[in-house]
Parts: sequence; C-alpha cells; structure tokens
Amino acid sequence: MRQGMRKGESFPWGELLGYLSRKLVDMARIQQYRLPRDLCCVLDELLKVMERGPEDKGTILQRVATSAQECKACGLHKFRNKVVVGEGNPDAEVVFVGEAPGEEEDLQGRPFVGAAGKLLDRIIEAMGFRREDVFIANVLKCRPPANRTPKPQEVEACQHFLMEQLRAISPKIIVSLGSVATNALLGSQQSITRIRGQMTQWEGVAVMPTYHPSYLLRYPEKKKEVWEDMKKVLTFLGRPVPKRGQGSNPSEES
Ligand code: URA
Repeated sequence: MRQGMRKGESFPWGELLGYLSRKLVDMARIQQYRLPRDLCCVLDELLKVMERGPEDKGTILQRVATSAQECKACGLHKFRNKVVVGEGNPDAEVVFVGEAPGEEEDLQGRPFVGAAGKLLDRIIEAMGFRREDVFIANVLKCRPPANRTPKPQEVEACQHFLMEQLRAISPKIIVSLGSVATNALLGSQQSITRIRGQMTQWEGVAVMPTYHPSYLLRYPEKKKEVWEDMKKVLTFLGRPVPKRGQGSNPSEES
C-alpha cells in the first residue's frame, strides 16, 4: 500500500502503470535500447490512455476508423477507392477477421460484401447470428492490387488498427479466416490446414482459426470442416448447435 493511503482507498494502478511505462521508455531512450515493437506500441497506448483518461469503445472504434481513413503507412493507399475499416456490433461476442478487402469491398467501403462475403453471411446465419450481431474486420484496411496476398510490411503497418478494434470490442472469441488473419493474430507462420479447428488465444481472447470463405468457394468440400470449427465456437459460447438439416447450414451444400 502507498504511504499515506487510507484503509479502503483503492490502489492507484493507473498512476503506477503510467510511471512504469514512462520509466521504461526513458530507460530505452537513454540506453539506446531497442524495445520490441509490440511492447513499444503497448507502452505508447498506455501513455496516451494515462494522458486522456479511458475512452469508451465507441470513441476508440471511431478514432481507429478516422486514422485508418487517413493512413498512408504503406503503398496500398495509392490504389484504394475506399478504406474498409470493418463493421458490426461493438459489443459482439464474436469477431470474424479476414485478410484484406477485395474489389467489391474497396468500392463499397464495407467488409465481406462480395462472393466470399455472401458465404460468410450464410455461415454466420447458420450459427444462429445475424450479420449485425457480430463484428467483421480485416487485417488490412486497403485492397492489395488484384487481390494479391498481403506483404509482411503491409501487415506490419496495418495490423495495429485491427488490434485496437479487438481490444476495444473485447469479444469472447475471434474467428480468424485463413492463414493471413491467423498468423497476424498469433504472430506465427503456420499453414491454416495444420492449425484450423484448434482453439488458441490472442491476448487472453479465444481464437478459432478456420478456412477463409474464398478458399471454400474454390474447395466447397472443405465447408464441412469449417462447420465443425463453428460448432466448437458455439459450444464455447454456450449457444445451441444447430443440427444438420436445420436452417441454412452451408456445409450441407457442395
Ligand atoms: N476477403 C477478405 O479477406 N476480406 C474481405 O473483406 C473480403 C474478402
């Protein structure tokens, strides 16, 4: 307990965290010690929070949206029509994370509104949610030319927007769609085929890696595996798991 603290007075964690993060940043500066980038981001964020006080999630999501709209941190801003920040319920239990906007998304400024999006909508509905119940975002907020795979520097430059969105929403579970989303969250370089269906975690939030809907459009026989993964998500959430033949379960179609 701090000197002079009275019984029943709560411990000033905020002051302590602010002090420690300032101290660490100063030490790093003085000794020219390179703090790992993630730690720097966390400390930087912590210092900002200390200065401006806690924000509500709506304000954070709006701030992320505004800075993503203005972002020129990588070359993709030169090609974009619209920045696709993400959309949905700020209090969502589930967040779906994709790779990057495609052509239709870039035109509309909304995530998953093309062919892959139609399939994602059906998966969400088969799980017993409406699209507006969940939150949908991508690792990249701008479309890579011709939908090529994002480059590591682009992921590096953009992923802090997603992380801030996820911290603000604080869902019960994140469904990472495909290897780009999964590896960005887990800081790994694994093949989605190896890790799909195995629940893991990001900053203490459950993560379920599964195949990307675009992959399912090419390999419809893989829908069954995605449905197995989504059943695990529903069980984790304590929600009913629809049986085959009930509703529009996309795994029942080829
Ligand atoms: N693919 C993605 O990963 N995200 C979208 O928003 C659309 C297609």
